[in-house]
Amino acid sequence: MNILITGAPGSGKGTMSRRIMDTFGITHISSGDLFRQYIKEDTEIGALARHYIDQGLLVPDDVTIEIVKERILCFNEDQGILLDGFPRTSIQAHAFYEIEKKINRPIDVVINLVVDKELLIRRITGRRMCPECSTIYNIYLNPPRVPGVCDNEGRTLFQRPDDTLDALSVRLNQYDIHTEPMLEYYRKRGIVKDIDGSLGVEPVWKEIKELLEKIDGNPRD
Ligand SMILES: [Zn+2]
Repeated sequence: MNILITGAPGSGKGTMSRRIMDTFGITHISSGDLFRQYIKEDTEIGALARHYIDQGLLVPDDVTIEIVKERILCFNEDQGILLDGFPRTSIQAHAFYEIEKKINRPIDVVINLVVDKELLIRRITGRRMCPECSTIYNIYLNPPRVPGVCDNEGRTLFQRPDDTLDALSVRLNQYDIHTEPMLEYYRKRGIVKDIDGSLGVEPVWKEIKELLEKIDGNPRD
């Protein structure tokens, strides 16, 4: 079973990806992780990717495709893959069609986590972290007992620069511009499943698990 998961920042994509991997024994292929790995290994294409990431830009399609292709073409496990962060654009989706044919691994389902923009903003911009114990709070959804300080040892909480409204707006815009045409491409193939990601972790997971069990034909505990 081969899956593509997509969702805006704050949609819960990370949490659901981990659960899919753990429950269905599927290998996670994240373009973000691959970029970090190539950059660390100091390869030529890694240096190219770093050039864009350092400026806060998206890595261009051709560089992304090369990096993911290299990983996927040497992939020889049977249990399937969970694609995360790729294909991100319509150009990448078209390029991936050639890779799918080559490795005989068509995408079975595209899980699209849909969350209302107001809620995404509350989930991300409300996030605060403790510098001491790394506990994450949310001032709207899961506040500490005393505003601004950690429940555990009283340290002052901080907000990561990525989580400010300005930074988030840029990321959400980028997401909308690129993702809609990509989804359109897969909608034509009839494999997109829109899932309401606003409901909270357990209801969302129940829906995804049932969907995948149906595709896989094998119920899990
Ligand atoms: Zn703490």
